[in-house]
Amino acid sequence: MIRLIRFVIVVAILTALAVAVAERPGTAAIDWLGYRLETPIWILLFGLALLALIAGIIARLWYVIGTLPGRMREARVTRRRRRGYVALTQGLVAVAAGDVGEAERNAKKAEGLLDDPPLTMLLSAQAAQLGGDERAAEVFFTAMLGRAETEFLGVRGLLIQAMKRKDRDGAMRLVRRAYRLRPKSEWVAENLLSLQAQAGQWVDAEVTFRDSTSGHTPEGARRHAALLVMRGREAEAAGELRQAGRLFAKAQRLDPGFARAAIDRAHVLIANGRKQKAARVVEATWRIAPHPDLVDVYVDAVPTEGKLNRLRIIERLAALHSDHADSHLAVARMAIAAEFWREAEARLETAARLEPSERVFRMWAAFEEARGDTARAQDLHARADAARSGPAWTCRGCGDIQAEWAAVCGHCESVASLVWEAPTGLPRLAPSAAGAATPLPVTLPHP
Ligand SMILES: [Zn+2]
Repeated sequence: MIRLIRFVIVVAILTALAVAVAERPGTAAIDWLGYRLETPIWILLFGLALLALIAGIIARLWYVIGTLPGRMREARVTRRRRRGYVALTQGLVAVAAGDVGEAERNAKKAEGLLDDPPLTMLLSAQAAQLGGDERAAEVFFTAMLGRAETEFLGVRGLLIQAMKRKDRDGAMRLVRRAYRLRPKSEWVAENLLSLQAQAGQWVDAEVTFRDSTSGHTPEGARRHAALLVMRGREAEAAGELRQAGRLFAKAQRLDPGFARAAIDRAHVLIANGRKQKAARVVEATWRIAPHPDLVDVYVDAVPTEGKLNRLRIIERLAALHSDHADSHLAVARMAIAAEFWREAEARLETAARLEPSERVFRMWAAFEEARGDTARAQDLHARADAARSGPAWTCRGCGDIQAEWAAVCGHCESVASLVWEAPTGLPRLAPSAAGAATPLPVTLPHP
């Protein structure tokens, strides 16, 4: 549009000039070096315009010829770069596809064609790793440390290598460097937390967790509570019972259904002679999430004499959450100890109705065996074989089941991943030493 307007304006000016010249005819005379040239004015003007045009064309040609080598060079560089990026892309695809030869070939090609070390070095390192040459990969990663734009990638590669080698000291040094470079990276924070937890540095681990977690989610609160329990245990081991009590209480506030926090807190309270408070702590957790391990600490907290009294106390605790299988299992256990067979059987039946799980049927079968009813026990074992597992300390990272709660999964080393819940059927990566779906301990007096 603008070009059209410009064209119209130029044509209009030229037409106006031509008309003005035609309306004012005349001649121009030039005297030069003894010659005289006389010409009508319009020819002179036309000649001058033609000269200007020719001069313009010559200048343009001169420019085109002068810049030709530069433009040819530029085109060559562009072509090289394009081929380099094609090689880089194909190399990355080959890495993703696990094609070692193709990855290495393209890595070399990209390195030769591209002047972009961050990308080609990463591809070369990945291709080397894919080919199992960790030494070569390490050389590339180490070279990447020297440049600001590749430093993080280099640290990341070396960190993964160190963790694979189980070189915890090396990994810790590298993860701290990565954390300085990218404190907002979730991947870095999670690895720093893991290494600190594996090294038992619970104070540092909690600081890392607090610094890297934004907002308060139930999952965040649960993980924070696990770290606080470990800090509490550390304080308890150092004889700082008050500090331990404070930390366990904080963990319990964050995750009120977390049995481990309640049990540890109750133990400290009992040690400090505050049994009533300990009982209230257990009761509060039982109302939210009954757990078999709470029973023993409750018995410790409420002073009682004799098996019958213990049965009555646990009945009181169970009444706080009467529609939960663990409430009935806990009473059944005490009833068996007090030789109240009828009550034990009724409670086991109710528990099986509320939670028809393996652990309930096994406990019931053990009870029937001890009573001498082997046929019924066999039937119950068969039902247990067919039933799903009940709740257990299950790792949300790898699905492994562990006999005791721990802040670090004994199988996959995830931090704060053990949760008291029924396994979701996640494939277990490898059998663990810990017992699966541990039934409640049944100690029966022989009738
Ligand atoms: Zn795990």
